[in-house]
Amino acid sequence: MKQKEYIQKVNELLIKQFGIPERNKKLPDALDLLIATILSQNTNDNNSYKAFRNLKDKYISWDELTIEKRNVIEKEIRIAGLAKQKSEAIKNVITQLKKSTGEVSLIHINQFSVEEAINELIQYKGIGIKTASCVLLFALDRNVCPVDTHVFRTVNRIGIISEKTRDKTFYSLNKNFPDGIAHSFHTNLIRLGREICKPANPDCRVCPLLKICKYKKKNTDMKKTGKTSKFMLLDNIN
Ligand code: SF4
Repeated sequence: MKQKEYIQKVNELLIKQFGIPERNKKLPDALDLLIATILSQNTNDNNSYKAFRNLKDKYISWDELTIEKRNVIEKEIRIAGLAKQKSEAIKNVITQLKKSTGEVSLIHINQFSVEEAINELIQYKGIGIKTASCVLLFALDRNVCPVDTHVFRTVNRIGIISEKTRDKTFYSLNKNFPDGIAHSFHTNLIRLGREICKPANPDCRVCPLLKICKYKKKNTDMKKTGKTSKFMLLDNIN
């Protein structure tokens, strides 16, 4: 099966299992989404959402952060962890945006191609390809599949891609991605990774992809362990 068809097949099986994931009815602001994605690194969606709400409740606009002390931002987002690095990244993006475009907004990337927008966003310190691609998918509704830790692990296990790093996986996966399915594919793969295809013990016995997955070390012995939160941060930014 060619890569594009394989992605489509996986997407169909995941939808059969998990349904079509809900998403924001109104696309969120791109800068809101960028900040939420920075906050989400290495923590769970509930804690990063609380940190995001702390900032939104304290500041009327992101402009205010240009004159805010970094350590005050750090205090507001402590619940999301890595608060020093995250506050530096946020402060840096806000300051740089103001300097280079004259305003604290990402509205200018709307007109960019996917490649241009990613190259623009990763210029900022603390913004990687995953964060940039989340902005494109969730705020600009582009057909791009971000590669986080779950997507990286699952697409390589399933055999859609064979790459050693997240960034290489991102470019291989998105080279010839089927139209219109990036949001459902990305979101359902995260759910698969959280609930079934876990890092140490994939529960292949209950996996909807068991018949087509090419992973050599499938685990069909485990009992299903009920679990996890379906809350998806980036579909709740508004
Ligand atoms: S069959 Fe197993 S390894 Fe393959 S995707 Fe499913 S849980 Fe992961």
